[in-house]
Amino acid sequence: ARSAAPNAIFKPNFNFADLGIGGLDDEFSSIFRRAFVSRIFPPAIVQQIGIQHVKGIVLYGPPGTGKTLMARQIGKMLNAREPLIVNGPEILNKFVGQSEENIRKLFAPAEAEYKAKGEESSLHIIIFDELDAICKQRGSKNDGTGVGDSIVNQLLSKMDGVDQLNNILIIGMTNRLDMIDEALLRPGRLEIQMEIHLPDEKGRLQILNVHTAKMRKGNLLDADVDLAELASLTKNFSGAEIAGLIKSASSFAFNRHIKIGDQAQVTQDYDKIKFCRDDFLHALE
Ligand code: ATP
Repeated sequence: ARSAAPNAIFKPNFNFADLGIGGLDDEFSSIFRRAFVSRIFPPAIVQQIGIQHVKGIVLYGPPGTGKTLMARQIGKMLNAREPLIVNGPEILNKFVGQSEENIRKLFAPAEAEYKAKGEESSLHIIIFDELDAICKQRGSKNDGTGVGDSIVNQLLSKMDGVDQLNNILIIGMTNRLDMIDEALLRPGRLEIQMEIHLPDEKGRLQILNVHTAKMRKGNLLDADVDLAELASLTKNFSGAEIAGLIKSASSFAFNRHIKIGDQAQVTQDYDKIKFCRDDFLHALE
């Protein structure tokens, strides 16, 4: 029975360097170990053991810490189709009946493919960004619409239906785990929750490395630019804020190569553009 070939559909890619994500190696290893390891075994083995794959996870934590990046990379790691990304508030803003219809439609392609191909079906990932938005109203007495209620119910019934399907993974994202309806977090639903923290100094250095990779390759950083120093100066920065810092530094570097007269003009030496330490320090001000 153990001679089955490993499932060719799911090939984990552990080459963190290629992921374009800094500081989340531990989170990746952990989520893989907790949520996805069963997916690289042949289906027959998994059935023999009698467990169900994890069908849903939640990534939560402060804004701009790489939750979306991570969700997309999980998809690549699992050789999934391009994920569907849906936004909580957007679903809510649509007409009530239609929102439920929208939820139903999200699951339809995966359901159809599983019906046709069974275990040979590719993995479909549905990412719910700002998942809290559709949960807010549930059970709230002030809200007479019950919109959130019915969407969450629809989602719950879909998630329970997913039990029969091995080709769907749902990734919820939120800044506020406490706002997520507990019913959604039960086993068999979004059962694994992982916090994505602000990066520590080592993580910030990795993120700085990721976002300056091209500059370093093109030798565009002056010798006085010390990324380790910048990592220590960016305490409490999110990954998105570090990306913003580098963008801001580049506008200082660009500015050294323009002349403002009647018109703004790029100077002759524009191709000598380089980043110096002060560009980053000014960007930090
Ligand atoms: P939100 O909660 O606001 O949706 P998020 O946690 O999903 O935020 P992302 O959308 O993944 O954050 O990050 C926004 C941008 O910030 C990314 O496209 C990337 O440029 C940068 N970034 C954030 N975190 C990281 C990281 N860990 N490594 C590299 N870049 C990062």
